[in-house]
Amino acid sequence: MKNPLESFDHLQAGMVVVLGVPYDENSSFMKGPASAPSRIRETLSSGAMNLCSESGIDLGVEPRFYDLGDLNLSIGAATFKQIEKGIADLLERKTYILSLGGDHAITYPIFKAFRKKYDKLCILHFDAHPDLYDEFKGNRYSHACPFARIMEENLAERLVQIGIRTMNPHQQAQAERFGVDVIDMQKWRPNKILGLTGPVYLSLDMDVLDPAFAPGVSHPEPGGLSTRDVLQIIQGIPGPIVGADIVEFNPKRDPSGITATAAAKFLKEIAARMVETGNWARNSPKLFC
Ligand code: MN
Ligand code: MN
Repeated sequence: MKNPLESFDHLQAGMVVVLGVPYDENSSFMKGPASAPSRIRETLSSGAMNLCSESGIDLGVEPRFYDLGDLNLSIGAATFKQIEKGIADLLERKTYILSLGGDHAITYPIFKAFRKKYDKLCILHFDAHPDLYDEFKGNRYSHACPFARIMEENLAERLVQIGIRTMNPHQQAQAERFGVDVIDMQKWRPNKILGLTGPVYLSLDMDVLDPAFAPGVSHPEPGGLSTRDVLQIIQGIPGPIVGADIVEFNPKRDPSGITATAAAKFLKEIAARMVETGNWARNSPKLFC
């Protein structure tokens, strides 16, 4: 297969790159997130919003920001390997990567590649669901399982989950087994101290938002965070944020486009925070293993 990244040799160390990962074969209930990357890009370039972050970084002219387009993926057993390879190639170029899913299953192969590059990496995981099932409907690679795979392989230094509101006994047992820091919705308060130090990987499932803010997901769960809550947390991460994903946006459930707009907003703010914290990281070359 043609390497989708072969024409990007000009990428410089420290750049923040956007990469679409249009893959939703592991969605248990409803397909749709595979078309999210193109929908998010359409929204960003529609003229309805500009490309400035709230901190004043204009991604339209920022030389450290670059959209690579989508990873070229086949469907089937080889897909996870293709995702891992695509991410590993970009990490070789010492870039920071913001991936656009796709469903949440993609975080496992993405993070596998990150773990090979970074000795210690914490995950900040926004989600209504813990995604800690050992298997779901017979699929160990379901979008309900990525953090069980990541934690059982000891890939993450620490996993902090925010917005959880669907914990069941099996996943509670898994959370205890893996030592996951679960900040469920009942415990969450604005300005909660997360204690994240060092490099962070941010995984953002759009269903962490209350369905009032983001109805366009396959598994809406009322009682979630507001868009502003999530932005405040992202903007307060000391970083560096070395990798991130925005997953589970389902355009089929988003006739008004409000969820696409929220995802595009998160793209801008996460990318800007990556650029800002990347300045710090560029002065610490030891972060690159
Ligand atoms: Mn999820
Ligand atoms: Mn979810």
